Amino acid sequence: MSRVSPSPDNLVTIDLDAVAANYAALAEILPPEQGLAGVVKADAYGHGMVPVARRLKQAGAEALSVAQVDEGALLRRHGITGPILVMMGLGPGQAARAVKHQLTPMLTSLEDFSRLSRAAGELGRTAACQLKVDTGMHRLGVAADQAMPLLLEAAELPGLEINGLVSHLACAGELDHPHARRQTKVYATLLGEARLRGFELPLSSLAGSGGILAPPWGLPGGPGLVRPGITLYGGLPHPSSEGRVELSGAMRFTSRLAAVRPAAAGACVSYGCTWKPPEDTMLGVVAAGYSDGYPRSASNRAEMLINGQSAPVRGRVCMNLTVVELKGFDPLPRVGDEVVLLGRQGESEITIDQLAQWADTIPYEITCSLGAANRRRFSGS
Ligand SMILES: *Cc1c(COP(=O)(O)O)cnc(C)c1O
Repeated sequence: MSRVSPSPDNLVTIDLDAVAANYAALAEILPPEQGLAGVVKADAYGHGMVPVARRLKQAGAEALSVAQVDEGALLRRHGITGPILVMMGLGPGQAARAVKHQLTPMLTSLEDFSRLSRAAGELGRTAACQLKVDTGMHRLGVAADQAMPLLLEAAELPGLEINGLVSHLACAGELDHPHARRQTKVYATLLGEARLRGFELPLSSLAGSGGILAPPWGLPGGPGLVRPGITLYGGLPHPSSEGRVELSGAMRFTSRLAAVRPAAAGACVSYGCTWKPPEDTMLGVVAAGYSDGYPRSASNRAEMLINGQSAPVRGRVCMNLTVVELKGFDPLPRVGDEVVLLGRQGESEITIDQLAQWADTIPYEITCSLGAANRRRFSGS
């Protein structure tokens, strides 16, 4: 949670209907036997975990994915039902909590499976869980050649229902990446072998947004899930996947003009005087900066929308303020006018992918930062 006092000038608006529309667009391009486990970790990438999870369930999502046990517990407290995959598995002392809230942690060692089995025994329940295998990203997961022995050992433990084999792709966003192809092959071979040995593993999953949008190598066959995150919010995992599916941005970020003022040719604008007007001009001072989650790396690169027209950021983004140029605006905007830093205003739109490109980062980071730092309102049913 942000410890910064949110500015009254700034507002993040979340369009839950856009999330539902993106869900439907993804479901449309998936094989019918693949369900969706919408990824709502990190407060749904800044969009609000509980409202987004509710809307996704309402739209028909088979499952949800979170990073941590606490996030899953929070969803349960808000009445969310159905499978909740915990992608980072069990933290210390969290096995009982995972069982109690009927979460489905992704596990990577016999020790994890044993902890969960003991907790299930103590609570007199059966605990769902999944085996996470490292197919070539070197982050979490048991080594591929150890996966089958671990699955066989874990299957002997009492009180466990191992319902999926899962892995994660390192380069899925880029179209037809050879590393994604290699990882998919390792994964599909393992899953095929496990199923031949009689493990059904119906909630198995490999693909996030990248794997869904860029799968010339084909998703592994049979029942399973995909784990899309960024595409549900209207962003792309990589610019090369543009045009594969129609998505709408779910987050809008608005601020206000705090000042409108002239600047003479050659004047110093903002910290470091990194921009000087080539001729006399008008400037607008926007009441949002990097403490509001607006990226400083967008200095001298981004644009904002005022009265439906684009205004370039001039000079460095400050902590609470950013200067834009109002050259050519007629009528001239006034103090208090709405400024759109992300999303639509009239016919114009600044997408998360566009803002991320200006800021030399990825859309994920943009929405996480904006969502955490600002007041937030929800629209849509
Ligand atoms: C965050 C995450 C996802 C979702 O990725 P997107 O690119 O946002 O679709 C899927 N799987 C795992 C393991 C993740 O950590």
